[in-house]
Amino acid sequence: MQYRDYGNTGIKLSALGFGAMRLQEVEQNGKKQIDEEKAIEAIRRAFELGVNYIDSAYIYHDGYSEVLVGKAIKGLRDRIYLSTKSPGHLVKKPGDYRRILEEQLTRLQVDYLDFYYFHGIGYQTFRETDERSGWMKEAEQAKNEGLIKQITFSFHAPPQEMIQLIDLGIFSGVLCQYNFLDRSNEEAMAYARSKGLGVAIMGPVGGGRIAGLPEKIRQELNLPVESNVELALRFVLANPNVTCVLSGMGSLQMVEENARYAGNAQPLKQEEVKAINTLMKKYRRLADLYCTGCKYCLPCPKGIDIPSIFSFYNYYNVYGLKDYARKNYGGFGKFPWLPEIKADACSECGACEKKCPQKIKIREQLKEAHRVLSI
Ligand code: SF4
Ligand code: SF4
Repeated sequence: MQYRDYGNTGIKLSALGFGAMRLQEVEQNGKKQIDEEKAIEAIRRAFELGVNYIDSAYIYHDGYSEVLVGKAIKGLRDRIYLSTKSPGHLVKKPGDYRRILEEQLTRLQVDYLDFYYFHGIGYQTFRETDERSGWMKEAEQAKNEGLIKQITFSFHAPPQEMIQLIDLGIFSGVLCQYNFLDRSNEEAMAYARSKGLGVAIMGPVGGGRIAGLPEKIRQELNLPVESNVELALRFVLANPNVTCVLSGMGSLQMVEENARYAGNAQPLKQEEVKAINTLMKKYRRLADLYCTGCKYCLPCPKGIDIPSIFSFYNYYNVYGLKDYARKNYGGFGKFPWLPEIKADACSECGACEKKCPQKIKIREQLKEAHRVLSI
């Protein structure tokens, strides 16, 4: 495993971090639940392979991610770095930030967090939440008391807002989206590093889209990598401003593979990165609809399954799997696992767009998806 400096904090993180947002699940009584045994096994295996950083959030797995992580790190607390996130949408008044933080410490069964992120903020949302709740002051207070070691933020907004947040001078690190389909944060990440912040990356495989790219795209590059996932992880780690890449690892196999890729002591060379960038320009249309499948846009009052429709649209548009995409879209209402509502049920209320971290013009894209998929 490689270890890298987390900004100026003196902390060294493993190049691969364990994101506890897609833990292995089992179905019980018709409901999906975390498969505790398998999820703990995956986290423990990652630790054995050198991963020293685990990230959770209040909202992951409806709160059970933190509980599970707490169980998985029993006996390892002093050998791992642990982070979770403050859910700004629940911080409505003074005291909420602190109350939720204490609840999270209880769930995780720990006395302190190494990193506590303001979850998914932009500059505007951060300030608005601060005005109504004073969460910035409460974060500093929690740090003074030793409950939080580093005040950090995870970021979902236009890149210039990352710079505004960094300039507040209170953060020691940022967690943001970056991969070879979406390099929009690249300059802001360099700025963060120049100001002494650590930079952790989420979405290295673009919500799974990079993993699903046709083999021929990778073969065009002719690089010594065995899979698209390896290419994606090593691309991110070739950026010297990146401390660590977080991967949501839902199986032991993913842990083993990702640890091998991220542990590769030879990151991609600059000319190899350049070759990827050139090829991606050619496939520019891949990034046109950058839906990560995060589901923040849901629920839609009309019951539209927005991420599934976008996923079919991308199969159609990006991978050229036209029949497959149409057949699946046509299955809405026919297969029990797909809801009956198609994209044309959209009333254009716009509620989903306010919640989409990728700022996707969902209404427009739904119309286009329906147009091509319903033929
Ligand atoms: S704009 Fe359409 S898809 Fe979005 S929440 Fe409203 S009805 Fe649902
Ligand atoms: S449309 Fe936006 S909010 Fe909805 S799943 Fe895709 S990226 Fe997430």
